[in-house]
Amino acid sequence: MSEDICVIAEKKALLSVDEAQARLFAALIPLTQTETIPLKQAIGRVLASDVPSPISLPFARNSAMDGYAFSSTGLSPQTPFTLKCVGSVFAGTPFTHALQQGECVRIFTGAVVPDDADSVVMQEQVRVTGQTIHFPADVAFGKHIRQIGEDVRTGDVLCSARKTLSAIDLGLLAAGGIEFVDVIRKLNVAYFSTGDELIGLGLALSTGKVYDSNRYSLHGLLQNPNYTVFDGGVIADDRALLKHTLQKAAEQFDVIITTGGASVGEADYIHAVLTECGEVNFWKIAMKPGKPLAFGKLGNCYFFGLPGNPVAVTTTFDIFLKPALHYLFTGANTRKPLLFSAICTTPLTKSRGRREFQRGILTQTLSGELEVATAGLQGSHVLSSASAANCYIILNEDTTGVACGEVVTVLLFNPLHSA
Ligand code: AMP
Ligand code: MG
Repeated sequence: MSEDICVIAEKKALLSVDEAQARLFAALIPLTQTETIPLKQAIGRVLASDVPSPISLPFARNSAMDGYAFSSTGLSPQTPFTLKCVGSVFAGTPFTHALQQGECVRIFTGAVVPDDADSVVMQEQVRVTGQTIHFPADVAFGKHIRQIGEDVRTGDVLCSARKTLSAIDLGLLAAGGIEFVDVIRKLNVAYFSTGDELIGLGLALSTGKVYDSNRYSLHGLLQNPNYTVFDGGVIADDRALLKHTLQKAAEQFDVIITTGGASVGEADYIHAVLTECGEVNFWKIAMKPGKPLAFGKLGNCYFFGLPGNPVAVTTTFDIFLKPALHYLFTGANTRKPLLFSAICTTPLTKSRGRREFQRGILTQTLSGELEVATAGLQGSHVLSSASAANCYIILNEDTTGVACGEVVTVLLFNPLHSA
């Protein structure tokens, strides 16, 4: 067979990344069960319903500055004027007396502006002699007062259903006096490594064995306040054991993730077990790294059989698992992440047929242009270059390589990490 015929044959057998994502999202049913939790525990959780504000914000008319509050009635802003200071208003202690014409009060930020006052002038703009306050010409009237409800009116939605709560959201809800929130319940996720060659940390390595690194990557990738995560350990390459362990886990968890054993080797049983005990939705994807990726269901449990190669694990997690799990508790399909165009400063090699997610290092020049360079060796076992990288360089199926200076598409996976 010529190389082109081989590529066509392989392409037919593999599902494109886009088709696989579409099938994945079509199969997922977002969670609906909710729980009520104290506001402080709600960071990163997903709201189950709209939260209307029981109060207006600001709740009362208050000063935006430290200064002097007065009524501008009868005063001309073009002419300097003097007013008698009849008291001070502090935040938390409203001024209880009526303010007469010719009078003002010293006021501090957040203090309630007396009903009779319509203006606050900053303290830096006035001169004080005893109780007499001298205002210069051209002070602005009607300023520096925060009006009732200018931020939020009673009944306005503070945060909407299915919003992932940020630190600012917690502040907003607290400002509205919300003490408890209803959120979507946590997703129960279990993960397992599979392979006879795997040993745990702390044991001496012998030829043929490798430390089980995938469970550590998954442990990191699954840090999310919306998941309850269970580390199921290592399952040997034993079909009966695999079947038994996964079937039992499927009764307890919403999602099972395995790594390894998903390919077509003689000790790769994931596909066979999923076929026998559940349903396979798709198996092989036209992507690199990450060709063998089995997705289906074991009873009511979603099952993701990721490849064994360590970089294929993190890549398939980022491209499929992360948006899928997010969809399960937000109900929002976020599979279109922000992509950037960058000038590639190193040549890249690739063969036609699969979409590649090459690991790259994205930087910004002094003039603001984005540049990306390869992070090094691209084998799906090469964790060191993936560790040095901060982005994927996405090369489409038909691309056969990239020359220096060409524009490529990148997806950030570690925005805090820049070279
Ligand atoms: P498999 O998909 O089971 O054929 O594994 C592919 C490659 O990934 C092999 O070189 C495995 O030794 C390696 N591998 C599988 N699972 C792990 C793991 N948990 N940690 C590190 N390497 C692994
Ligand atoms: Mg294996």
